Amino acid sequence: MAEPRVDKKKKRVVVIGGGVAGSLLCKTLQKHRHFDFTLIDSKEYFEVTWARLRSMVEPSFAKRSVINHHEYLQGASIITSDANGIEDNEVSTTEGRLISYDYLVIATGHMGSKCVTKPEKLREYEADNEKIKSSESILIIGGGPTGVELAAEIAVDFPTKKVKLVHKGSRLLEFIDEKGSKKVLDWLTLKKVEVILGQSVALTSSSDDGTYKTSEGETIMADCYFKCTSDPIGSSWLKETSLKDSLNDSGRLMVDANFRVKGFDNIFAIGDITDVAELKQGYLAQKHALVVAKNLELLINGSDGGNMVKYTPGSPTAIVSLGRREALLQVWCVTSIGRVPETCLHITDTICILKPFIRSSSIFVHAISHQRIEVNEMSSTKDALESIDKRRKIADQLINQLDEQLVECKEEMKRLPHSPADQEAVIAHAKILLGHKKNVPRTNLHTKQPSIEPTSSGIRFPKS
Ligand SMILES: Cc1cc2nc3c(=O)[nH]c(=O)nc-3n(C[C@H](O)[C@H](O)[C@H](O)COP(=O)(O)OP(=O)(O)OC[C@H]3O[C@@H](n4cnc5c(N)ncnc54)[C@H](O)[C@@H]3O)c2cc1C
Repeated sequence: MAEPRVDKKKKRVVVIGGGVAGSLLCKTLQKHRHFDFTLIDSKEYFEVTWARLRSMVEPSFAKRSVINHHEYLQGASIITSDANGIEDNEVSTTEGRLISYDYLVIATGHMGSKCVTKPEKLREYEADNEKIKSSESILIIGGGPTGVELAAEIAVDFPTKKVKLVHKGSRLLEFIDEKGSKKVLDWLTLKKVEVILGQSVALTSSSDDGTYKTSEGETIMADCYFKCTSDPIGSSWLKETSLKDSLNDSGRLMVDANFRVKGFDNIFAIGDITDVAELKQGYLAQKHALVVAKNLELLINGSDGGNMVKYTPGSPTAIVSLGRREALLQVWCVTSIGRVPETCLHITDTICILKPFIRSSSIFVHAISHQRIEVNEMSSTKDALESIDKRRKIADQLINQLDEQLVECKEEMKRLPHSPADQEAVIAHAKILLGHKKNVPRTNLHTKQPSIEPTSSGIRFPKS
């Protein structure tokens, strides 16, 4: 087995985990000549996690959202294996390799998929889709974002199926506020999804015959089920390493504002594995990656670490997509649910004031697939100019929508009994949004060519 190529003059960076954070970090490091980096991931590909539920109802979707690491990290050292140890500036893998590093970045957010290769993953989606198509009644276990989004995808694409969602919590989507949970519950009920709250389902041998018992003794009959509880955090392997004392009680790595792991100068952690006090979201994991890319650059250029970039935890924003055209959006105290404007389906991240809002599965992936078509089609200057013009119109419409949301936000502020600190935070947030709007150079905003690389607000597909 060939060992990764190592240039002895360059600093060696090892990134463990090729998910949202790790893949963007590697893509960014690739641009810097001073690094010799190696990616260790348990699977051969990167997957846009928020496209998973759509891929279950439309398996061909996964052909675009599952991307081999080699496609966007051409020529890089990529090791497909689980990391299982860290000792003396070396990482060990389950297949028996030892990879030495000057700097280590841990990005093992959640335990990876059991499918190691892209074809395996695509077959898994085909099998899930067959399961959905051949069942009249479907049980979904778990009412977090995965369970809710899957129920919505099935309800929209297969409206005649009987979908039952059982959630052990007292309300759906506990990470958003009660108002948002209620809106999603009403939406699902309208789509004839039966939601059972405050109960869990134990999978037993009788489940094989389509009989499921809930914790309250109810019997549910269903032709198939999907377990949509969250994947375990990818840190159990760290408990046997020199980083064991840097894990907090929930198994997350404690990091400082520069993302350095507590107690180590040359080890960083990014993404969901960290103890940063914010919602665990992909767009925030991407921000972590960019901060660490910058900090590694500074260190490698001789910085003593004093001028490293500090990270401020992200503001509470959530988007839960509900089938192909609708979504729930919660930004600070404003919650809205409904149809995603047609324009959003074509948005690109060149419209930078809206970056924080573009991340639901349908919005995000539609944006990418559409943009990819544009890249291929933009064969002449005329095409390019027409595309720019179209983008300008889209940007203007979105700016207007944002204005309306800010007005709504201010109204909401007046109604709610916030503390002075809360009020200041919301007003500061609104000012940032407005400030962005004013400061965005219009020419750059509208004429930037589509990018096909991982960017700060989203991963773009590599050229096929
Ligand atoms: C269904 C779903 C929908 C979502 N929707 C959204 C959304 O709309 N917007 C949003 O912002 N966020 C969304 N998220 C959250 C987002 O996906 C996560 O916040 C993000 O994936 C975290 O990125 P990460 O790189 O930290 O971890 P992950 O993406 O979990 O990546 C971890 C990587 O580490 C690898 N790994 C684990 N252990 C090891 C090991 N020992 N050795 C080697 N490799 C290892 C795994 O294989 C994986 O590739 C969604 C998540 C899910 C599951």
